[in-house]
Amino acid sequence: MASFTPSDAEQELETEVCIRQTQCFIGGEWVPAQSGKTFETIDPATEEVIATIAEGDQADVDAAVRAAREAFDNGPWPRMDARERGRLMHRLCDLIEDEIDELAALETLDNGKPLADSRKIDIPLALATLRYYAGWADKIHGQTIPVAGNYFSYTRREPVGVAGQIIPWNFPILMVSWKWGPALAAGCTIVMKPAEQTPLTCLRLARLAQKAGIPDGVINVVPGFGPTAGAAIVKHPGIDKVAFTGSGETAQVIMRQAADGLKRLTFELGGKSPNIVFADADLAAAAQGAHVGIHLNQGQCCCAGSRLFVEDAIYDEFVAKVVEMSRVRRVGDPFDPATEQGPQVDQAQFDKIMGYIEKGKAEGATCATGGSRHGDLGYFIEPTVFTEVTDDMAIAREEIFGPVLSVLRFKDTDELVRRANATSFGLAAAVWTRDVAKAHDIAHRLRAGTVWVNCYDVFDPAAPFGGFKQSGFGRELGERGLDPYLETKTVTVSMS
Ligand code: ADP
Repeated sequence: MASFTPSDAEQELETEVCIRQTQCFIGGEWVPAQSGKTFETIDPATEEVIATIAEGDQADVDAAVRAAREAFDNGPWPRMDARERGRLMHRLCDLIEDEIDELAALETLDNGKPLADSRKIDIPLALATLRYYAGWADKIHGQTIPVAGNYFSYTRREPVGVAGQIIPWNFPILMVSWKWGPALAAGCTIVMKPAEQTPLTCLRLARLAQKAGIPDGVINVVPGFGPTAGAAIVKHPGIDKVAFTGSGETAQVIMRQAADGLKRLTFELGGKSPNIVFADADLAAAAQGAHVGIHLNQGQCCCAGSRLFVEDAIYDEFVAKVVEMSRVRRVGDPFDPATEQGPQVDQAQFDKIMGYIEKGKAEGATCATGGSRHGDLGYFIEPTVFTEVTDDMAIAREEIFGPVLSVLRFKDTDELVRRANATSFGLAAAVWTRDVAKAHDIAHRLRAGTVWVNCYDVFDPAAPFGGFKQSGFGRELGERGLDPYLETKTVTVSMS
């Protein structure tokens, strides 16, 4: 788990940014889009253009799939000693470590997240993930099976083939590591499309992978838009498996488009996670957990604790604490070491969140703090807390993906569990109590892929993550995270 302490934030952080890669990376070559088209990536803090990026589409995806297919069908990657694959992945990590400050600054420039977060949370966790899966490379193996008769049966775990990977903009470099780590360890080759809002660190990592000696064609990156480059990946007959992180609406489109080719799919989608505070909890820790649970990464987390359920007996006292923490949260320039919250990623997200804030006010929730734009340049929004929210309100049901907390009141525990589960999502949940039996009981009854007890947002590459219900299927991280990149083959030999 990457740790982040206030004293770390005070350290001088390197803020120099150099943009080196802006083209498609296909078969080891840096090439413009075949159409010649480009798009701009914007600094969300200043609304200024950072760089012009190749806008890949179907033709570029075709070329990328050809390269990945060749690398998989005839290249060294799936065939080399597994230990050597792990070694090359560790080499990539060494190169990331060598330029960690520069990568952090690049991530902050493109995404808007505070530099201290990029440097102390996102990139360390990305490194830990890549190293964790580098360690798996030579530990993936089958079993011998005691079948009936005079036969010898065993299984092999073979790479699934060419993986199409489509990632969002909220944790750009971290999502690269979650996708590349298990795919590379398994021996797959990759065609990745980064989000159009945040292509820069993915492109830089592709260059570092090349420098590390990962063979040409193993990793291909096609920047571009969802309906063109993304859809081309999903539909391409040369792609064996699609891994997608993003919105449920896009996942539905992808599922339909992937049906013809019967593509293997894994989805990590949205959430409306319940964060439950009982009266017997350590209330100072729970308040901190409620604050970080919603506001980390400007609220742009699929697992954000966006529904805060507070037990009636402590409601007023506890909610006052949480509101005060949001009120004093420092919003501003993400390169300022004092900043805790940067801008939202783009105008569209800003507009969507402001729309929900207006809806919350109109529906009659109490806007206890925030509720407005911060400043007049960049996509900044004040940390916002709505109290006295009821289950039927849009701000209690729909994913806002911004710094907007909805606080709900509860009395009865069974009723609480029913309400917490009364959502189509099921990504994460948390429960705060000093009663161990109650903690486990609630953890078992919540329909979510991750349940945190007396903590929030604790991630580790070894612990699987993913959704129940419409929050997705398949798991990322941990040993389970390898499964979608592997086929199981049974070999049965007559011994007579
Ligand atoms: P968000 O609303 O958070 O931007 P999206 O699901 O729209 O989430 O985007 C996540 C990723 O999916 C991005 O890389 C985006 O370009 C891509 N994407 C969007 N639409 C499609 C599509 N129809 N097919 C494939 N990928 C898509």
